[in-house]
Amino acid sequence: MSDDSVLLDPLLDAFAAMDPLRARVRTVLLSLPQEVQLDFIEDPRFCIRPLNRLNATETLLALPAPDGTGSRCVVLKKRLASCSEAFAFYIIAHELAHAFLRNGSWQQFSDPEDAADALAASWGFQKPASWF
Ligand SMILES: [Zn+2]
Repeated sequence: MSDDSVLLDPLLDAFAAMDPLRARVRTVLLSLPQEVQLDFIEDPRFCIRPLNRLNATETLLALPAPDGTGSRCVVLKKRLASCSEAFAFYIIAHELAHAFLRNGSWQQFSDPEDAADALAASWGFQKPASWF
C-alpha cells in the first residue's frame, strides 16, 4: 500500500471494526485524486463517521458553508454496509464530494446536489440504477 493509505487511515477511526463499511469508505477515499485526499487529511474539521442512532445529537450537524466555515463532517448510514457495493461507493463519493465542495457548486453545476453527483462521477462513481 502507498503512503496515502497510511495518511488516510486515521480518517477511518470511527469505522474501526465496522467492515465491510470501513472497507467501502476506504476504497472510495483511496481512489480520490490526491488533492482531494490532502484537503481532507489536512483539515482538522473534516471527519467521516457512521450515523449513530443512539445519539440523536450526531444528526444535528451544521451544513458546511461555501466559505469553508461550519462542519465538514460526513455522516454515513450503516445501511451502506448492506446495500450493493456500487450503490455504497456512489453514496460515499457523493457525500465526500459535498465535503470537498463545501456543499457548493462545481464547474457548470450550480445546484449542490448536481455538483456532488457530477464530481463523484468524475471520480469514477456513477449513480447506479438501483440499490441492489
Ligand atoms: Zn447530496
